[in-house]
Amino acid sequence: KKRNPGEKEFLQATREIFDSLRPVFFKHPEFMHNGILERITEPDRVISFRVAWEDDTGKVQVNRGFRVQFNNSIGPYKGGIRFHPTVNSSIMKFLAFEQTFKNALTGMPIGGGKGGSDFDPKGKSSREIMRFTQSFITELSKYIGADMDVPAGDIGVGKREIGYMFGQYNRIKGGFEAGVFTGKDPNHGGSLGRKEATGYGCVYFVEEMLKGNGDSFAGKKVIVSGSGNVATYAMEKSIELGATVLACSDSSGYIYDPKGIDVETVKKLKEFDNKRIQEYIKFHKHAVYHEGCNNIWTVACDIALPCATQNELEETDAVLLIANGVKAVGEGANMPCTEEAVHALQTSGVLFAPGKAANAGGVAVSAMEMSQNSMRLSWTVEEVDEKLQVVMKDIYKSCYDAAAAYGAPGNFVVGANIAGFLKVADAMVAHGIH
Ligand code: NDP
Repeated sequence: KKRNPGEKEFLQATREIFDSLRPVFFKHPEFMHNGILERITEPDRVISFRVAWEDDTGKVQVNRGFRVQFNNSIGPYKGGIRFHPTVNSSIMKFLAFEQTFKNALTGMPIGGGKGGSDFDPKGKSSREIMRFTQSFITELSKYIGADMDVPAGDIGVGKREIGYMFGQYNRIKGGFEAGVFTGKDPNHGGSLGRKEATGYGCVYFVEEMLKGNGDSFAGKKVIVSGSGNVATYAMEKSIELGATVLACSDSSGYIYDPKGIDVETVKKLKEFDNKRIQEYIKFHKHAVYHEGCNNIWTVACDIALPCATQNELEETDAVLLIANGVKAVGEGANMPCTEEAVHALQTSGVLFAPGKAANAGGVAVSAMEMSQNSMRLSWTVEEVDEKLQVVMKDIYKSCYDAAAAYGAPGNFVVGANIAGFLKVADAMVAHGIH
């Protein structure tokens, strides 16, 4: 707390890891002597910079850019770029910290990083977004590279923004460095199946968790918060597995569709037309729009997938979900459930999949994109999806095994934290003290 004053989200993320690691230190007292906790919670570096750009009226605007290069002991820094007005150093550090363990869980050789800006893309023209993004990457280009740090998308950053960043980076460096970004359009080096990967992966993980309890998505009622990249494809896969998605949201409100959300309409509104989710009711007259996104958790469901943003599901929401008979909660977003909400869900016997494990499918396919770029070839969408399913099953197994081995069977928060930590900590110890 003293070292990171006011960094609420970062302290929350580190507290959760520390709580899980107690049994590890009993089994591995050597970690006590080499300062591993102090070292693993301190980022390798935090880069913060000015991003000046000109808006469509000719006025100069100034935003702040960040890149947190948290840990590269198992591979180059890897993690998304977020454009959202809430971006600050606490949120960047929490995301980069979580990313380090998530990336370790994928079994792929990638370290942890995260970046972004307090720039708000809402209401900006495409040219403004391009000018901002070019200015952002002009500075960031000094610190990234295919073997150094490989950014990707996140909230507010999709393949259009990645395209602008990639174009500007290559313009500055004077080459075509395919592996410097992931989440690119497949026509210039992106991987097929990347945009679906986080949402699909989350559903694959929760399906494994349900299977372990003799259950599945088939016939279940699902709620998904958000209607962005992760939410859209979590809905699509839930429906493919036989569930009905009753509600989804954006930051203004939520839609309840008793016949089941039509994902194609959501894609049209949010992925392609940049509209508000409220407009869903224009196409589906029987659906109802409610103002206020948090109230989505009042809808009764069997499975809840928070896929929007951090701390969007609070203890009171968890209590409502439990009262309405929820069986499983899977975090598609990063840290969408507060600590109190997670506690309430777990102590009530609800199956809980933490984001670190459940949303790792996106970065896993990003690592596959890096492999395809290195080999200068592309896999089919079926090949990628098959590999994604294997990765998600493996992550499930590592979390399950670690939880059981350290005295917390069935606790996937503890399992994910321990399995991710051990991999990174072992590599740091092997590299000596620095
Ligand atoms: P997008 O920008 O595509 O979508 C975010 C969605 O969440 C939008 O629909 C947005 O609505 C909505 N939203 C924001 N705040 C709230 C809120 N308080 N309540 C309800 N809805 C809200 O982002 P992504 O889908 O890429 O990311 C979502 C989450 O998943 C983030 O936590 C991200 O870090 C995490 N994640 C993403 C990965 C990826 O591959 N994209 C990988 C792993 C994790 P509006 O349109 O109104 O802004």
